[in-house]
Amino acid sequence: MSEIMIPQNFTSKTADVVVIGGGIVGTSTAFWLSREGLKVILVEKRDGLSSLTTAASAECFRTQFTEKSMADLALPSVEMFENFRDVVELTDIDIHLCQKGYLFVTDDQAQVGDLEKAIQTYQALGIPGTELIVGEDLHDRFPFLGPKALAATFNNRDGWLSTHETTYGFAKGAKNVAFFMKTSVTGIHKDNQGICTVETDKGLISTRLIVNCAGPYAGIIGKMAGLDMPLTTVRRQKAFVRTNHPLVPKDAPFTVDLENHSYWRPEAGGVLCAWVDPNEPESTPSDELATDWDFAAESIHRVSRLNPFFETIADDLKADDIDISAGHYVYTPDDKPVIGPCDEIKGLHLNCGYWCGVMLSPAAGKRVADIVTGKIDNKENPLRYSRFKDGDFEKGDTFLK
Ligand SMILES: Cc1cc2nc3c(=O)[nH]c(=O)nc-3n(C[C@H](O)[C@H](O)[C@H](O)COP(=O)(O)OP(=O)(O)OC[C@H]3O[C@@H](n4cnc5c(N)ncnc54)[C@H](O)[C@@H]3O)c2cc1C
Repeated sequence: MSEIMIPQNFTSKTADVVVIGGGIVGTSTAFWLSREGLKVILVEKRDGLSSLTTAASAECFRTQFTEKSMADLALPSVEMFENFRDVVELTDIDIHLCQKGYLFVTDDQAQVGDLEKAIQTYQALGIPGTELIVGEDLHDRFPFLGPKALAATFNNRDGWLSTHETTYGFAKGAKNVAFFMKTSVTGIHKDNQGICTVETDKGLISTRLIVNCAGPYAGIIGKMAGLDMPLTTVRRQKAFVRTNHPLVPKDAPFTVDLENHSYWRPEAGGVLCAWVDPNEPESTPSDELATDWDFAAESIHRVSRLNPFFETIADDLKADDIDISAGHYVYTPDDKPVIGPCDEIKGLHLNCGYWCGVMLSPAAGKRVADIVTGKIDNKENPLRYSRFKDGDFEKGDTFLK
């Protein structure tokens, strides 16, 4: 049986594996490790699972990746979201799956070729169902788009879900996991066989295996073990706009303007909108990220370009109608996560470096467990940490990251 608890101070505990971090990535990882019969302790410094970056996300998932290593995680993850009750073997879980699609839109004739190329790549990677929609057809199917919109890729299997329900679904479905809440990892000790002890503010945990799932703090956890990882943390914001304006197309997909990096989607009680600022500087990991007062206005301005109904909605908005939240994207040198053991420190495994950890979390957690149990050889894992040292990586051209 698994248990979510705030432990009393303890002298020492033991676990087969200590998972550090109770976001969606760590919780999925703990779930899959426990399903392999391992005794897991998950350590989370906050008082709730999925309460840091995971809670700040737009909660979306997609199959549309042009890099094989990402598509190989994204597609099985979507399948697991679709069959989530069977995956976690619980009949009363509802992750509020909403498959209204992802629509990547352009108004630049020169970019239509990129969309065509992306579709060919998806087909070559075995990602089914992405359409190229152009001209009148685009406006017939998505009448909320303004006249400038020229072409789009669309996959109706993409969408969004409740990250809270999904994370707690993994936690409730886990077999033998002690979730230690309000417990901070403060140190990691090694002996001549590798990792031996995780030091927390509640006590020591003896283990030979750690999985670093600490989200924006993964670099700090790595350093505690003596590993300096090439991770960059960048603040990303989103705005929730409370509106029941009749112009909001409630059945719209997650809609991305490829030109100005903005996106929006319908949400219960309003819309979510944001933009990914390519010039946002690196920032230090923190639980208390400041938001910019003008972020919502800038986002609405940007999404209005191809979704002009936003201009009308904006006319009626008051400051109280807008909530802005922020979290971190974590980037690696090739913008892909690191999964699996590192050669440098025996017993230290990684599942971190995400800008899209929600959508990859089911398959990424499973991959960690498959590597730990020897079902997958880490040499066959394209997201292994050693790719950076070996120079065996390249940045891909996936849209919006
Ligand atoms: C605005 C925004 C929109 C986004 N939209 C999407 C999206 O639509 N789809 C998508 O897939 N991704 C999205 N993301 C990215 C996504 O949110 C993250 O990639 C994902 O949540 C990472 O999950 P995680 O479990 O790795 O990290 P987190 O959720 O941050 O979990 C890490 C946990 O580790 C804990 N921790 C850290 N240090 C310690 C310590 N010393 N001791 C104990 N515990 C510790 C933290 O408290 C935290 O709870 C978005 C992010 C932002 C900011």
